[in-house]
Amino acid sequence: MNLKTKKIATILTKTSLAVTLVVGMSANALAEQVLFKNVNIFNGTENKLYEGHNVLVEDKLIKTISKKSISTEKGAKVIDGKGRTLMPGLIDGHVHIMINSNYSDIIPNQDPYDLGIKSAIVAKDFLMDGFTSIRDMGGPAFATARQIKKGEIVGPRIYPSGAFISQTSGHGDFRGRFDMGYTIRGGDSDVGVWEKLGFGAVADGVPQVLEQTRLNLRHGATQIKMMAGGGGSSKYDPIDTTQYSVEETCAIVEAAKDWGTYVGAHIFTDRAINRALDCGVKTMEHGFFASFETYQRVGKEGGFIVPQMWALSPELANNPNMPADKLPMVAVLQETYKDVGRTMLDAGVKVAFQSDWVGEIEEANRARRYEIYWRTVMFSGGKNNYDGNFEVLKQLTSVAGEMLALSGPRNPAPGPIGVIEVGATADILLVDGNPLKDIHVLNGGYKEWYSQPAPRENPIKTIQLIMKEGVIYKNES
Ligand SMILES: [Zn+2]
Repeated sequence: MNLKTKKIATILTKTSLAVTLVVGMSANALAEQVLFKNVNIFNGTENKLYEGHNVLVEDKLIKTISKKSISTEKGAKVIDGKGRTLMPGLIDGHVHIMINSNYSDIIPNQDPYDLGIKSAIVAKDFLMDGFTSIRDMGGPAFATARQIKKGEIVGPRIYPSGAFISQTSGHGDFRGRFDMGYTIRGGDSDVGVWEKLGFGAVADGVPQVLEQTRLNLRHGATQIKMMAGGGGSSKYDPIDTTQYSVEETCAIVEAAKDWGTYVGAHIFTDRAINRALDCGVKTMEHGFFASFETYQRVGKEGGFIVPQMWALSPELANNPNMPADKLPMVAVLQETYKDVGRTMLDAGVKVAFQSDWVGEIEEANRARRYEIYWRTVMFSGGKNNYDGNFEVLKQLTSVAGEMLALSGPRNPAPGPIGVIEVGATADILLVDGNPLKDIHVLNGGYKEWYSQPAPRENPIKTIQLIMKEGVIYKNES
């Protein structure tokens, strides 16, 4: 205890309230230090390892990085890295931790408490796979985020969006066919189960979209998710459609900006992306079907593309839930867009990692591990000879971290994430092996999707230490 802390302690220890305060304060006043010795650093941004370095973590942040030995305070924890790779914790830029049951089963059969309890399991699985931050792009993940922050349950730092905002007949309109009838006052019910659960909100017109945006912010959304185009999993919106007028889109963006944050849009086409850009939408979720010029514009305006590449994988044919009549269309998409990852990189737009799988938990875990590998295929080679491992590692760390920082004052991280640098948040993995050479040290060796064993029974042995905000959650080093 230093002099200042001692003084505070002496003044305060006279009441029981004071005792509580001192316990709380002493954790801050006495720095918790962890020293990693002899590690090879992947810093999240450069295609190299800094060999034989030492890294000192103090409280929640990285304090010192040096090749020389670093002195520590008494009581510091020292971890011998033995030449293993120290790298930033992974970031998934687009998940739905509340949509954690079979999609078609949710509307008729789910109780929200089931989904809430299961979200705690999902959160733990993310952290145990090395993910220290996730951006939840639709669903009421607020309570899970709060309980993780309080330390009541274990999981990554969550950036929740709350209910995704959709127009009538948009990608978030999951009401039954006749819930609304044929006329706007003709339906028996204008609120479907999907909306009651807080997954999505149907809102039309400027006043309604403003109210829903503000309601999400009231709950603690760190960014806003809107549906700006058609999709595959919804019933009433063909994938080529553009959703929300300019006025509605701009209203959502302005309300988010007033809170210091930004909007991410579910979106695919040139027309929809350009409209979104006109209003200042920052992250384009999925975004496969756009042109080189549109990707360039997103990049120039400081935006991000956040695609899930498994949607263009031949492994989709092995998905037991994939209707046989959709397979020919899937094959055409795969052939047409086989170079889209490289096109995005050629256009100079930043690409962030996302897994976006919804459904039963182990299925989502499997998809995430497969996605890490499959991206190295989709983002390698081409005329600029991209190094797939390096590109995907950036997408999982520094680029995703930069994207999450767009939430400005709503950002829950105490410092930059996705990078190993002085002052960055101490979200750290210690990995046996070099992920720049072998990506499988981060995904448990998963090269296929459906034929792989259940991930929870197969912890990733090569990720030997997981630290989030200076706290160690796994240590087999
Ligand atoms: Zn999604």
